[in-house]
Parts: sequence; C-alpha cells; structure tokens
Amino acid sequence: MRPARALIDLQALRHNYQMAREVTGAKALAVVKADAYGHGAVRVAQALETEADGFAVACIEEALELRAAGICAPVLLLEGFFEADELPLIIENDFWCVVHSLWQLEAIEQAKLNKPLTIWLKLDSGMHRVGLHPKDYQEAYQRLLASGKVARIVLMSHFARADELDCVRSDEQVAVFEAARKGLSAEVSLRNSPSVMGWPNVGSDWVRPGIMLYGATPFGEDQAVAARLQPVMTLESKVICVRELPAGEPVGYGARFITPKPMRIGVVAMGYADGYPRHAPTGTPVLVAGQRSQLLGRVSMDMLCIDLTDVPHAGLGSTVELWGKNILASDIAVAAETIPYQIFCNLRRVPRLYCGD
Ligand SMILES: *Cc1c(COP(=O)(O)O)cnc(C)c1O
Repeated sequence: MRPARALIDLQALRHNYQMAREVTGAKALAVVKADAYGHGAVRVAQALETEADGFAVACIEEALELRAAGICAPVLLLEGFFEADELPLIIENDFWCVVHSLWQLEAIEQAKLNKPLTIWLKLDSGMHRVGLHPKDYQEAYQRLLASGKVARIVLMSHFARADELDCVRSDEQVAVFEAARKGLSAEVSLRNSPSVMGWPNVGSDWVRPGIMLYGATPFGEDQAVAARLQPVMTLESKVICVRELPAGEPVGYGARFITPKPMRIGVVAMGYADGYPRHAPTGTPVLVAGQRSQLLGRVSMDMLCIDLTDVPHAGLGSTVELWGKNILASDIAVAAETIPYQIFCNLRRVPRLYCGD
C-alpha cells in the first residue's frame, strides 16, 4: 500500500474548539465548510458534536451531508441559499440561513413556509464581498420581522483584514457594524479565527472559528493564542528510494536542483496530486526519521525528493512528515506563497486516518 496518509487528531481538534470558546466566552459555530478544510466534515462534526454550539458550511449540499450522517446540531449556511427552491429543504432540516442580499430577502418574503426560519442577517461592513449595504440593513431587518417567516435573527458581518494585527480596518468595520445595527436588539456574530485570536475587544455573542480549529495560525507573525493551538492534521509518507549522487547532478524535473556536493537523496511517496504544493521550493522544511531536513528540486505529481545527506540514520522506509506537529502547515504555506487554508483544502487522494475519538 502506498504509505502517504493524513492522520487527523480529533483530540487536538476538540482542544482548539475549546480555546475558541475560552478566549471569547462566546458561543462558537465550528466552521466545517470545504470538507472541514480537508479534514473530513462528517468525522470532524461527529468529534465535536457533544460540545459544539453548531456548525457552519458554505452550501446546502455540505449541510445535508452532515444531517445524513446524523448530526442534529444547528448548521448555518454561510452564504444562505443560492436558489429560492432550497428554502423547503432549509426548513425541513432546520438549517440556519444567512441573508446577504436583497434578492434573498425578497425570496423569503415570497416563499410559502410552514415553519419560521433562523436568519443570520449579514452586513457588508467594508469587506465588499457579500452583505447588505449599511443603508439597507435596518429596513431588511424590519422586513424580515414583518414577513412573519422568521423566528430569530442574528446580526453578522465578516472581517477582511483581521489577520493584520496592527491594521485599523477591523476597527472601522466594527464601527460601521455598530452604526448599522443601532437600536436592534439581537445577537451578534462578527468573529472568524483571526478575530477570535487577535482582537479580544470585539463583541460577538457567536464566533465562527475555522482555521484555528485545525490548529493553524492565520497570522504571519508569532501570536499568543496561536502558540497554544494544536495541529490537527499530520501529512506523512515514507522514503521509497535512496540514492547517492556526486556533485553536479540534477535532481527531478527541469533540473531545478543540482547537487553542490556529493549528496544522499531520498524519494518520498508524496506529490502535488496529494495536495502537496507544487510551488514549494528547494529548502522547504520536512521531517525525516525525526530530524528536520529539506525538499530538493521540483515536486512531482506522486513523488518528491528530500535531502538525507545529514540524516544518516534515515533511509528506505523512514517516515517523513510533510506537515503536522513538527513542521507547521503555515510554514509550508509561507514557503509555497499561499495560506494554510489552501494547503489543507488541497488535500486529496491520501487516506485520512483518525485518532483521539
Ligand atoms: C470561512 C468563514 C469563516 C471561518 O474563517 P476562518 O478564518 O477560517 O476562521 C467565518 N465566517 C465566514 C462568513 C466564513 O465564510
């Protein structure tokens, strides 16, 4: 059997979820969209179900997958419905639903519903992606109430730059939100992971942690809460071939690495078809047989090469950690000029093995 696999530590996941609660004192929807950022939405939701206040996903297909697996907790659709004909299913499954646009509000007004909805009314407080314009916010709230189709409304918005700890934009967004919701007595939800971790003064009855649940930091710098997160996913494989090369020999596609001296090279069963980033350059850290080493040359589809020159005890069959508790996914993200979110979401082909249930 090919030795590439992703180990998912559910105990670490629960630890990280509790941290989101602990540092905010708020209720927390565990964000499990995109197959729980590559960790497996059903297993992640099952592992959190007894403690989680609810879950959040990107679309009804993801929400239905949770219900089909027996998850009864609240599930929020972060973008609401994409078409009005999803509304009966939303009602039937008790999904909570974001309203981010006037067309969604109109669809609710026109729908025939046999039960009232729980709506999270989204304001565009400055990110300018989705969300109602501040001038429409109060009226939308009143129209939802007047429709008689809504049992409960939570007021929400989303930060564009909370991962930049000394940027004033988040404070500006909070000010826009506070002005827009003036006089409305409803619960509030503003905080994603970077805001949960780095913005302690933002009020939020509900928080929406995603990346922090999986133990990765959204920040480009050291941060106190980030230091206490536990990585959940370990991507590992084994050395399947070892070769000794003299100086001046090319390694891999395009001869992107040429041995500057005699070197011992290990070939690892892991490639970009597994989600390891092809853009990770020579020098990207790996752990082999418990010791840090580095990637050499181009990442192939199914294999990559690492340096064993200074790891004499490593050889054929040695275990390699591509990311996990020793090599942080966020460090791989930096090397590959992306973010840990994408590193995790790109995971595919490798079997996921769960522990800590
Ligand atoms: C994805 C998402 C989150 C979670 O973001 P993280 O940065 O992963 O914590 C929270 N809220 C909304 C609206 C989202 O789309």
